[in-house]
Amino acid sequence: MKDCIFCKIVRGEIPSYTVYEDDVVKAFLDISQGTPGHTLLIPKKHIANIFEYDEELASEVFARIPKVARAIKASNPDIKGMNIVNNNGQIAYQSVFHSHFHLVPRYTTHDDFAMIFKDNSNKYTADDLKKVQQSIVDHMGD
Ligand code: 5GP
Ligand code: ZN
Repeated sequence: MKDCIFCKIVRGEIPSYTVYEDDVVKAFLDISQGTPGHTLLIPKKHIANIFEYDEELASEVFARIPKVARAIKASNPDIKGMNIVNNNGQIAYQSVFHSHFHLVPRYTTHDDFAMIFKDNSNKYTADDLKKVQQSIVDHMGD
């Protein structure tokens, strides 16, 4: 993709602080450094989001995440954990439309990363959940 910023990084047209690279993926520091060591792992092949992976590319890309995650964690003794985040679609905060995984090292409960899942469990009956379950099951393999 000619104008994709991450394709430009893959081609070396935009510099990046690369921490890992092979024929399938590139991992480089996120320019925002939400927390120190914040890294993006991307497939070199341009695909927009999670919905576009086939099983082969998914297994190749996902297989490389733990290695990069371990290296980041080992790089700084203050890293206590890590959030791995993958945004898909503008509504889900995706701003660069070349699939990528954020590896966000966590240092303290009050560092510069936060994620909120509301607990709506009291709004669902077992029947409601069964309907949601069935609707997803019906589309498996689409
Ligand atoms: P998204 O919001 O799509 O999940 O994440 C896109 C990320 O790409 C952002 O965290 C942003 O800081 C990062 N980013 C955008 N442009 C560049 C760039 O030119 N170089 C690097 N290293 N990161 C970038
Ligand atoms: Zn791209």
